[in-house]
Amino acid sequence: MKKHILVGIDRDGTIIKDDGYFGKKEDWKKQIDIYNGVVEGIKLLKGHELNVIIASNQSGVARGYFDCKRVEEINWEIDKRLKAEGAVVDGWHYCPFVGRDYAIEKCLPLTNPWVKEEDLRKPGIGMLKRACHDLRLNLDNSQIYFIGDQSSDVQAGLNANGKGILLLTGHGKREEDKVRRMKEQYSGRIFIAGNFLSAAKKVLEDIILKL
Ligand SMILES: [Mg+2]
Repeated sequence: MKKHILVGIDRDGTIIKDDGYFGKKEDWKKQIDIYNGVVEGIKLLKGHELNVIIASNQSGVARGYFDCKRVEEINWEIDKRLKAEGAVVDGWHYCPFVGRDYAIEKCLPLTNPWVKEEDLRKPGIGMLKRACHDLRLNLDNSQIYFIGDQSSDVQAGLNANGKGILLLTGHGKREEDKVRRMKEQYSGRIFIAGNFLSAAKKVLEDIILKL
């Protein structure tokens, strides 16, 4: 199996149930609920020697709901629970920044230090670039997949010249029509999966087809 393959995975609505900025709640630990099939899916991908990272947009930082420390505590807690089940990923990334358009839409002052135009926030590929750097992969020569419950996750995979998989968990059902329209434009580069395990299987099937 080729080893220069990177699978990026979204967090909220993909790995865990998305309760909408749950990090602002004091009992956030109790709110963490990992979807069925996530542990099996990660183990399946890692069992085939793929590089697997989790990369999430965390606009809650820019919106003042919680700080970066809370995001990292949550990531650490999820990582600990996944590891306890034998699912070990290769890295965690998040983007606390939002762009100007987002800030205007949400009435955030443009002087907010977390308002910044950059490609870290999905559908930008900054987190994939960082992951490639950390894992000593060359983004241009790697096969990239991105799994998530929003069209921006799918688009991040496409923007990295890779493929995107929309999950119908989290916000996925709301995004399905939009992603189906994207599919017409990006033939063969977008998949839709009902849950995480079937998304992981789709990645492996796609890789095997290319061998
Ligand atoms: Mg999500």
